[in-house]
Amino acid sequence: MSFVGVTISSLLLASGGLAEGARGVGAPERTTADAMVRRVEREIPGAVRVASERFVLVADPHYGARERTLAILERTADAVETFADRMIDEPRPQRERVLAVAFTDSTSFEHFARDVDRLDASWMSGYWAPGADRVVFRAARTDGDSPERHHGTFAAVADPDATIAHEAAHALLHRLGVQRRAPRTPLWISEGLAVAFEPCGHGADAAFAPQPEREARVRRGPTFALRDLVVATSVPPGDASAVEAFYDESWSLARWLVTERPTEFRTYLGLLREAARENARSKRPTALATFERAFGPVDAVEAAWRGSLSAAGEAATSDRAP
Ligand SMILES: [Zn+2]
Repeated sequence: MSFVGVTISSLLLASGGLAEGARGVGAPERTTADAMVRRVEREIPGAVRVASERFVLVADPHYGARERTLAILERTADAVETFADRMIDEPRPQRERVLAVAFTDSTSFEHFARDVDRLDASWMSGYWAPGADRVVFRAARTDGDSPERHHGTFAAVADPDATIAHEAAHALLHRLGVQRRAPRTPLWISEGLAVAFEPCGHGADAAFAPQPEREARVRRGPTFALRDLVVATSVPPGDASAVEAFYDESWSLARWLVTERPTEFRTYLGLLREAARENARSKRPTALATFERAFGPVDAVEAAWRGSLSAAGEAATSDRAP
């Protein structure tokens, strides 16, 4: 899910239990779950449908950024496919197009979330509904319009392009088999990766690009101990700034590990998929044990990760010195 200002998912991920959409078997070209598309269209008066190679976009008639949105979705898909090739042996082919649903205004978006996905989306700018496997967002640019509503202490207006890429990344990471849905999947890995794909609005090679504002916030000081961050399965309680910090730190950790410890990261993703299969079993390893099996002692990882942040901060400061 995407908050106003930050992006959140996996509340739905954690809820699990919904049937996955039917998949075409051996289809030479990507199909679309037509029944689901028509169901969504019935909910949106005057809905407009457009499609690209890997996506079907259903938007309200006022949504003007359809081609731009499809382009962002496709760039994100390119980036996730590249990542999947690095991280798993045999990515699943994406046989069906992903359905994306776009709204111009928050009222229609919130109604759809409530009526169709049974979700309070009043504090979000987007979400991925894993059971139905569609992404839903409000992504109209508000320049010159009425200002967006703010919730809690969020001051930043969500970047619509980032929201689109974020939600698409959630859907595709699961479609391609990098992640597997399970009730107790650690939230940091899902959100850390989705945030890392947010810059894909600018280009497929922008995944895992620096995000200076997040970096600055993370560098200002830890909000979560790493051993707490890596076991959380839901958004931490507290105010909006704690939620924002959770996203920032999850992203920073994921980005650092993918860059500095790619082999271990690959192992970790494999262990999580394995754990998801073992979900019902009581002997399933704890989230902390899984993390440490892949990366080593959590305190040593934390020291190395935080150390890299302060080193980068000092470099940035000295760059600015005369
Ligand atoms: Zn998310």
